[in-house]
Parts: sequence; structure tokens; C-alpha cells
Amino acid sequence: RRGDSIVARQLAAIRLFRGECMKTTQTIFEDGGHKWTAIVRDPAKPEFLIDTNEYLVQHGGQGLLLDPGGSEIFPAVFSALSSEFDPSKIAGIFASHQDPDIVSSLALWLEFNPQMKCHVSWLWGSFIPHFGGKGDTFVPLPDEGAVIPLAGLQLQAVPAHYLHSSGNLHLYDRQARILFSGDVGAALFPAEKQGLFVEDFSSHIRFAEGFHRRWMGSNEAKRQWCERVSHLEIDMLCPQHGAIYQGADVQRFINWFDELHVGVLRS
Ligand code: FE
Repeated sequence: RRGDSIVARQLAAIRLFRGECMKTTQTIFEDGGHKWTAIVRDPAKPEFLIDTNEYLVQHGGQGLLLDPGGSEIFPAVFSALSSEFDPSKIAGIFASHQDPDIVSSLALWLEFNPQMKCHVSWLWGSFIPHFGGKGDTFVPLPDEGAVIPLAGLQLQAVPAHYLHSSGNLHLYDRQARILFSGDVGAALFPAEKQGLFVEDFSSHIRFAEGFHRRWMGSNEAKRQWCERVSHLEIDMLCPQHGAIYQGADVQRFINWFDELHVGVLRS
């Protein structure tokens, strides 16, 4: 099949350029053909690149890739993902916002499959094409959010504007009770602390504080987000950097964030 030969070519290219791809996949939710996979933790990643988590939502044999990452880590993500799922079945990409570590790999994914759609805030609709894609690649998401269908599953884009990007959305899966929260909940921790899930909230959150204070742009937007997501049933809050909050740590995080003063440079 055409898809197979493209995969083989991509993987050969990866081996040629990279030597080894070290991202791993971890299933975080599974219910029949409905599945969430985290693509995480690359110890071979150079120090100067921020570590990122990518997530794949599978339903009915189709996939939606959330914040696929930078072009620099595309080979590692593509290779890890391919070991888990046929990449030609990825129907689209959800980009929480416009940053390079979020979606600068877009052109490489489109080279693999030019039909792929990119769901992103309307605000970035004419900016992200600087990374790649044509007019019909983009599905603009309105400020109030929208439903993104995936083979019968209804995923909900949830507004998170100014957290940190001015056009920023998260993705909620009501059936799996998972909220993909982009940069909200992100923690930057030392290499030796590699667990995928938050184990001890109070020691973990120290690695999140500086990031949230500096990157999150608006206390008012933060207040609204905390209110909004408090109404959702969330078993796992999955950020794009750091570790996943689960169970009681989800509300613990929301409460912590609600109290944090953000958007001001400390002298
Ligand atoms: Fe960002």
C-alpha cells in the first residue's frame, strides 16, 4: 500500500538522520477502540530543546494528534507513534496554539499525508501557514470553542485564551474524562525526575510555579478557565510539558492555579 511505502521511507530517513529515536509511547486510557496514547520522554533529546508530550486520540480506527511538536523532534514522534498506530489513519492535528514546540512539525506531517487537517484557533489561521499547509488544511476554531468529530466521537475544544497564547484552546474528551491542557499544568523538572504521572503534588508543583507565573498572561483569563474546567468531569489533566495530573490532583491543580498571581514580571 502507498501508506506503507511512505512510512518505510520516512523511517529510513529517520534512521539515516537520527541514529536512534528514543520517544516512547504509553497508553493512558483504553476502552475498546477508544484510546489515548502519550508520546513522551526522549532521553536522547538535546538539553537546549524543551521536552514535550504529544498525545494521540484513537477512535473507530482514526486518530487525532494533539500538539504534534516541533520539526526537530518529528522523527522521534513519528517513529514512536508508528509503532503504536498506522500514521496514515491520522485524520488531523489539534494545535492548542501557535508555538514552535507545538506545531512547527506541521509541514512534515503534511508531506506524509497532505489531506491532514489542522484544527487551531482562528486567530492563528494566517500565521501557522508559515510552518506549512494550504488554505484547506486549516479548520479554524472560534473563540468559544467547537466540537471536533473523530469517527463518531465528539471532542470538545475548550477556550483557554491568554493561557498563555492569545488564541489558545484545550481539548476535552467527555467519554474518556481527559482534558488536554496545552501549556497549563506544564512543569519543567530535572532529567532524573521522569515519571509520566504526578506522584506527590506538593513536590511536583514547585516545578510548575515559575513557568505559570512567567508564561500565563492574564489573571482574569485564568480565573475564567478555572471556573470553566471545574464544571467538567476530569480524571486526567494532560499538559504538553511535564507530568499528568490524575484523580484528586486535578482539582488540586485547578485550585493552586486559581490562587497563583500570573502575568507580572517579578523584579
Ligand atoms: Fe507555548
